[in-house]
Amino acid sequence: MLSLAECYEGDCLPKPEQSAKAIYNPKSSSADEFISHDEIVESMEWAFQNKNNRKLIGEILKKASEKKGVSHREALLLLDCELEDMNQEIFALAKRIKNEFYGGRIVLFAPLYLSNYCVNGCVYCPYHKQNKHIARKKLTRDDIIREVTALQDMGHKRLALEAGEDPVNNPIEYILESIETIYGIKHKNGSIRRVNVNIAATSVSEYAMLRDAGIGTYILFQETYSRKSYERLHPTGPKRDYAWHTEAMDRAMDGGIDDVGIGVLFGLEGFRYEFAALLMHAEHLEAVHGVGPHTISVPRVRAADGIDPESFKNGITDDSFAKIVACIRVAVPYTGLIVSTRESKACREKVLELGVSQISGGSRTSVGGYDIPEEEDENTRQFDVNDNRSLDEVVRWLMDLGHIPSFCTACYREGRTGDRFMSLCKSGQIQNCCHPNALMTLEEYLCDYACPSTRELGEKLINSELGNVPNCKVRELVSGRLDLIRDGSRDFRL
Ligand code: SF4
Ligand code: SF4
Repeated sequence: MLSLAECYEGDCLPKPEQSAKAIYNPKSSSADEFISHDEIVESMEWAFQNKNNRKLIGEILKKASEKKGVSHREALLLLDCELEDMNQEIFALAKRIKNEFYGGRIVLFAPLYLSNYCVNGCVYCPYHKQNKHIARKKLTRDDIIREVTALQDMGHKRLALEAGEDPVNNPIEYILESIETIYGIKHKNGSIRRVNVNIAATSVSEYAMLRDAGIGTYILFQETYSRKSYERLHPTGPKRDYAWHTEAMDRAMDGGIDDVGIGVLFGLEGFRYEFAALLMHAEHLEAVHGVGPHTISVPRVRAADGIDPESFKNGITDDSFAKIVACIRVAVPYTGLIVSTRESKACREKVLELGVSQISGGSRTSVGGYDIPEEEDENTRQFDVNDNRSLDEVVRWLMDLGHIPSFCTACYREGRTGDRFMSLCKSGQIQNCCHPNALMTLEEYLCDYACPSTRELGEKLINSELGNVPNCKVRELVSGRLDLIRDGSRDFRL
């Protein structure tokens, strides 16, 4: 059996020099209070002591089965649970929650890298400023038009914009102009209907500009919640400021952005520490803003130019990764869960079962990668992709597995954001929108972009799923709209 110290891999064991206490307060505006190191360590100790406590784990599972979530401490105990039969119950519950909240739909998106200029020194990312041999590139307006046209030709409707932090090369004006360009591109039947944005932590006023530009979700990964590890992994640049980065979501929401997406980069620090802190961050947003994160992402450190994942001692196995996904699903049932092409087909297949609701497909992680042959994009990649299949292959694979690929972007465009979205989601009503919208957007994809075998499979799936729309008036409405889509109309939504 592992000792407590072995179990707490990473740098976050309580150490004498960390004795300064920050009182845990989820409602505090101070990063060190809502992500309290002491609270995390105490939770880890408590979970470790109780990991075979059948009665306690059973009580938490009973609470979790009400589908209203559990606390970070309770979720950590589920993560640590060593009782095989109860672990199977956790996996079964995660699967049930996914199906009851989101049904069979899996939303698809693609990242779009605008620029890899960056002034930060993040040691796990090849775009760090000290890397002198990576090619630096920034998309011009014409480049963006080419990239987005290529993405539209694949069938994508939802993008996540990525850019390094560089006030000279990538100022907020550049990001705003890029968003405007993307929304303005209409190529054949294609359009990008939702642009999510993943850029560096910024000020309330710049977040308000992003809101006014019509972004969907603002995404920012914490990388690691351990202040000590954070400062070691970010030796230089503005990102080094732990509090500025950790409190970014509060500023984003103060700036009027309703939907925010959080995440950690698993592998940098001990995964139990990150897991507890990630959920504390969600609890903080709920406590202060009345609405938790719209999405949670679970990236793992990947190989890239000059980056060897083996040099990060906290790498996690696929089994631990699957358990993390299941326990997040159980802890925050109403939050979208995203897995990218950093993960292999086999790993994605496993976690799709356990609560993932959104995945990327056909991704290129380089600047300008969609408009050039794959072998030419190596010199600006942020990380190596583990799932290299085309979007069409991913769509077909999802259907083979019994999921419904969805290109839906309806909520944000119908004003269902923030607490309006969460109340629908928490009441279990969102599925009444997700399911029909998935069928209609899949039909668009089949008509415009799918290869013949994908289209054949998709039409069969849509016909059988139509019968699963519970309300007969909605079923009739969707059936009529599917016919209109086959006749050339586009962009219906509920
Ligand atoms: S992780 Fe982001 S901020 Fe850090 S070096 Fe890479 S692009 Fe820059
Ligand atoms: S209806 Fe809303 S929650 Fe459901 S897939 Fe569409 S945008 Fe997402």
